[in-house]
Amino acid sequence: MTGTDRLREYVSRSSRIVFFGGAGVSTESGLPDFRSVDGLYSQKYDVPPETILSHTYFYAHTEAFFRFYREKMLFPEAKPNAAHLTLARWEQEGKLSAVVTQNIDGLHQAAGSRRVFELHGSVLRNHCVHCGQAYPVQAILNSTGVPLCGCGGVIKPDVVLYEEGLDEKVLNGAVRAIEQADLLLVAGTSLTVYPAAGLLRFFDRRRGPLVLINRDATGMDDSADLLLRGKVGEILAAL
Ligand code: NAD
Ligand code: ZN
Repeated sequence: MTGTDRLREYVSRSSRIVFFGGAGVSTESGLPDFRSVDGLYSQKYDVPPETILSHTYFYAHTEAFFRFYREKMLFPEAKPNAAHLTLARWEQEGKLSAVVTQNIDGLHQAAGSRRVFELHGSVLRNHCVHCGQAYPVQAILNSTGVPLCGCGGVIKPDVVLYEEGLDEKVLNGAVRAIEQADLLLVAGTSLTVYPAAGLLRFFDRRRGPLVLINRDATGMDDSADLLLRGKVGEILAAL
């Protein structure tokens, strides 16, 4: 039996699948991840991306933040790939209870997924740091320099920057879903960003298998019940 066959069998007998994903889920939609060889961290910047995407840098160098952000984090043309679409179908079929994602691109919802815990927020939501007014992503895309609210305040993406905490409601929802999962499918993540990666420990291994799909090795490879090395979109499309 191949790994794909085993995954197909696991999926067929599950009704509370939780998918836990990262940037690798969207590379097949054309978005660069952070840690692959062709990812953002391998490109050369005067300041490392982690620094630019930090709370301190946002307030100290707002214009430079938005230069990087518009060019490297916003992909308005991107479309969901086979991974996003398969997960949305499983939810509709009553097999999947939640998607927990570290991504900020909104592609799971674009594919039709409804129960999505966005641990790091979304580029699609933005708000004025002064008056709280909400803005769509177009407000960032259609502006130059620092995007400003009518009140004069800076429009900030609802994205969790480095040094910022995760939203408690989102975090608790993700934990509850993982605790009740009967199959935890982890894919497209290096599992190096905390506290997000730490959520996997809430999965009760007695309830079902832990499946890992990733292109490169991760620190969890040895503890997975099933490890598939490859592209998550291709693998899920073949099920
Ligand atoms: P990461 O860049 O650290 O790791 C990505 C992992 O995915 C790598 O191990 C790589 O081998 C694997 N991968 C790449 N393409 C794949 C594919 N097609 N199929 C299977 N595996 C694939 O990403 P991370 O663990 O999510 O952590 C990075 C942080 O960066 C997150 O916090 C996230 O918020 C942010 N981020 C988000 C986006 C996005 O929204 N699309 C993009 C880049 C970074
Ligand atoms: Zn305002």
